[in-house]
Amino acid sequence: MILRDLELGAIQAHILYHATVQPIYGSWMAEELALHGFSISYGTLYPMLHRMRQEGLLVCEEQREGSQVRKYYTATEQGIQELEQVRHLIRELYQEVVVEAQTSQLLKPRLQGEESY
Ligand SMILES: [Zn+2]
Repeated sequence: MILRDLELGAIQAHILYHATVQPIYGSWMAEELALHGFSISYGTLYPMLHRMRQEGLLVCEEQREGSQVRKYYTATEQGIQELEQVRHLIRELYQEVVVEAQTSQLLKPRLQGEESY
């Protein structure tokens, strides 16, 4: 389904973005994504973080916090470059699918009006 495919891509774009700003960890990321209306289970999020790490986009550092060990993820140089490409893609997509669509919606009634005269 295109919506779910896009959501999964958008979730990865969010992860990559936040990992360029500051080190992130799984449960923080899940909360942040929930604020944007994305629901993602840990069963999806953790394998996703793992895959992004394998692809060289993120590095992981373990930190002990009390009794638990938390994994912090940070974007690599490759991740930062990939985010630039993602930004380009989002800009292009937004320009056409949102901005141009709004413009043609605005023009439509006027064109129809002219036709009826
Ligand atoms: Zn976000």
